Amino acid sequence: MSASLEQRRHLVTAIPGPRSVELMARKSAAVAHGIGTTMPVFAVEAGGGVVKDVDGNSFIDLGSGIAVTTVGNSAPRVVEAVQQQVAAFTHTCFMVTPYEGYVAVAEALNRLTPGDHEKRSALFNSGAEAVENAIKIARVHTNKQAVVVFDHAYHGRTNLTMAMTAKSMPYKSGFGPFAPEVYRAPLSYPYRDEKDVDGTVAARRAITVIEKQVGAGNLAAVVIEPIQGEGGFIVPADGFLPAIAQWCTANGVVFIADEVQTGFARTGALFACDHEGVVPDLIVTAKGIAGGLPLSAVTGRADIMDASHVGGLGGTYGGNPLACAAALATIETIEADGLVERAAQIERLMLDRLHRLQADDDRLGDVRGRGAMIAVELVRSGTDEPDADLARIVATSAHQAGVIVLTCGTYGNVLRFLPPLAISDELLTEALDILTDIFKEATS
Ligand SMILES: *Cc1c(COP(=O)(O)O)cnc(C)c1O
Repeated sequence: MSASLEQRRHLVTAIPGPRSVELMARKSAAVAHGIGTTMPVFAVEAGGGVVKDVDGNSFIDLGSGIAVTTVGNSAPRVVEAVQQQVAAFTHTCFMVTPYEGYVAVAEALNRLTPGDHEKRSALFNSGAEAVENAIKIARVHTNKQAVVVFDHAYHGRTNLTMAMTAKSMPYKSGFGPFAPEVYRAPLSYPYRDEKDVDGTVAARRAITVIEKQVGAGNLAAVVIEPIQGEGGFIVPADGFLPAIAQWCTANGVVFIADEVQTGFARTGALFACDHEGVVPDLIVTAKGIAGGLPLSAVTGRADIMDASHVGGLGGTYGGNPLACAAALATIETIEADGLVERAAQIERLMLDRLHRLQADDDRLGDVRGRGAMIAVELVRSGTDEPDADLARIVATSAHQAGVIVLTCGTYGNVLRFLPPLAISDELLTEALDILTDIFKEATS
């Protein structure tokens, strides 16, 4: 961000303003209809906790471009590293003429991801591409084919990852047929599970489905988000993840953590698996990894990662030098600025405010999440019936008031907060004040 970007919410036109309206008309005429937008405004500048639009309005950013700009938009170290790299070379293709940045990112991932066993990494462009590659690696290593995913899961929009993603509308509807050999197991969903379903019981329930409907002898990998992202920021009950991981280890099944959304300090730990001491065989990372540049990775046990023949993995742009420079600067920023602890502070501030709001308003059925990945699940008063209309109304009102918030969840009734870790407490508090006022007025 430029030094001139003031860290404040400031609206100077109606939302959207006239220049955004004009650009939205051009978008409708030029961009495929399937590409939707959350906000009705077009960005020109962003940094810290603020996004500024083409009409001069400044919004408080509680979205981070979907958990990507964790270190902040145009974070100073990222800008400098990318500027140096763009002037040196932009692309050689790592598979043609390799370069040090790629190797340094792999070394950093091997060092930082859970577990101190020997690891290898491979770099790709998007989260979905990395998930697909993790499956390729697990299949070639185990010589088995089946993949188990969970209810409410989101793993991407490519053909294999659409099959892995749970929700039909909008992610899958009309886009089949989907890749075969993908099976779905029940998740631990503390808010909606029966009272006596703790983590161990939920894991047993899932393992029974896996054993009876798939069979360990056919199963290459279990893929799970340690905290679900698009599915509704569902934090499984304590003990669920370790029990699933242990079952995988005991049964020759590769345990893959999809930390695309939860990774890189987002949850108040470097990786969400760290909260429960779970060490995945393979971990998939993307979003927060490179301060906004497109990069993703698969990292894991050397014997599994090295199972592919030479030339079996790769891609023209995977581990692009600009993205690698950005990733190294992002990791340096997380470590130097203490952003893991910052995410934990944001958790305390947000949960405190949202729990107080919940005490006065039972439409906030569940307040949950970790670090700077916090959500409220909205329900009709006096019930646990999902209220997607209320989520939409609150989100739209927040946008009008200058706060970027996102919704998610299988039932569309979850408001999710993913502020950049570079946001100030003042902006965060102001955004929560605004949301509190909106809840007072909102009826669905
Ligand atoms: C966003 C996301 C993906 C897909 O990443 P893309 O970069 O959009 O392909 C996969 N898994 C999870 C958990 C995600 O949040």
